[in-house]
Amino acid sequence: MKSTSTLHLTPCAVFNLRIFIAAIMLVPAFFLSACKQNEKAAGATTQFVAMGTAISITVHSPSAEMSENALSIAQSEITRLEKLWSTTDSESEIFALNTSLDSVNVSEETAKLLLFAKEMAEQTDGAFDPTIYPLVDAWGFLTHQYRIPSNDEIASLLSRTGSEKILLEENDVSLLDGAQVDLGGIAKGVAGDSFASIMRENGITSAIINLGGNVQLVGARPDGEPWRIGIRNPFGTGILGFAAVQNCAVITSGSYERNFLGGDGLVYHHIIDPETGYPAENGLISVTIITEEGSLADALSTGLFVMGTEKAITFWRERGGFETILVTEENSVLISEGIAASFTLSDEYLASARVITKDTEYFPLWTEFSATAAAE
Ligand code: FAD
Ligand code: MG
Repeated sequence: MKSTSTLHLTPCAVFNLRIFIAAIMLVPAFFLSACKQNEKAAGATTQFVAMGTAISITVHSPSAEMSENALSIAQSEITRLEKLWSTTDSESEIFALNTSLDSVNVSEETAKLLLFAKEMAEQTDGAFDPTIYPLVDAWGFLTHQYRIPSNDEIASLLSRTGSEKILLEENDVSLLDGAQVDLGGIAKGVAGDSFASIMRENGITSAIINLGGNVQLVGARPDGEPWRIGIRNPFGTGILGFAAVQNCAVITSGSYERNFLGGDGLVYHHIIDPETGYPAENGLISVTIITEEGSLADALSTGLFVMGTEKAITFWRERGGFETILVTEENSVLISEGIAASFTLSDEYLASARVITKDTEYFPLWTEFSATAAAE
């Protein structure tokens, strides 16, 4: 096994791996933690519901007490962040902000997150929009009371969106023009980052958290091997493939995650295009981002989904600092070159998957690209 020469991620390391795929099909929830744990490492695992999703954490350390302690701190932290950033909890800072006509004094971490969300909105040219709340609410995704808003309603709600409407003066936040904030596209990634910090502060060098498909890894598996993180096949059951990675976030946004069937027979999903106010229909069905920081990965998974295939590829080429796996509505898989040699595809995509490279418009077949990388 060797690390790839095309790696753009440090210390989010990726590995070249050719391993059978049959075994991983047995693993549920597209979450492949260590298959064989080092006998010397004492593992602890917990599962709970927070942030509207099932969360699982596994921690390995030299002692069971140390693992349990880290686990407990991490769970409390996720619950604390949920209470801070939930849009529906009337005691959260985001709820206070969304329902106040005046400026609200928020905690430093909320102010920092809002600033980062604004920055991501700028970088993605508004594709990632933390002020999308009025639209997400109108479509019923916050309350699960789904409905199709009229064109007029959508046009009116769009006048209340735009990240420039969030004004920050240190920790005092004002929302202009009836804007309201939804951090659902970024907060689970931030929670993953907090998890990683807690692990490191507690001396844990091998841990994994899965927040409903948003995975954050600390170190490698306890046996020193990279984690194998399965990516859901958006077209059916099972997985698209898996990435052999460590010390990084693997975060996916997909139109299959939350959606409803409208009375008109069409399916409407939860990622809203801030230009149209409708669920984004720009050619992509799932976007996975792999990079060190969960916050960045989460914002970009949502942002690139909204951008659509062409813009997402251009953005990856120009910005850099992350790797991506795009699945299009036509069932094609595009894998960025920094992760291609560390990705193992399931059989159904073997012949057709292609690699996005930095410097050419030609997309080589994944099979040819990874064979060349393995030979180097
Ligand atoms: P992502 O693609 O990462 O994010 C999609 C979500 O981001 C959408 O659901 C929407 O909320 C928002 N969004 C949509 N379009 C855009 C856009 N263009 N730019 C930016 N953001 C966009 N769910 C519940 O059902 N009940 C709960 O009580 C609940 N509480 C939550 C509390 C917190 C603190 C958080 C972070 C989430 C909570 N959720 C809850 C889940 C949330 O509503 C979203 O469904 C979830 O965050 C979607 O994440 P994702 O990874 O699937 O998709
Ligand atoms: Mg996201």
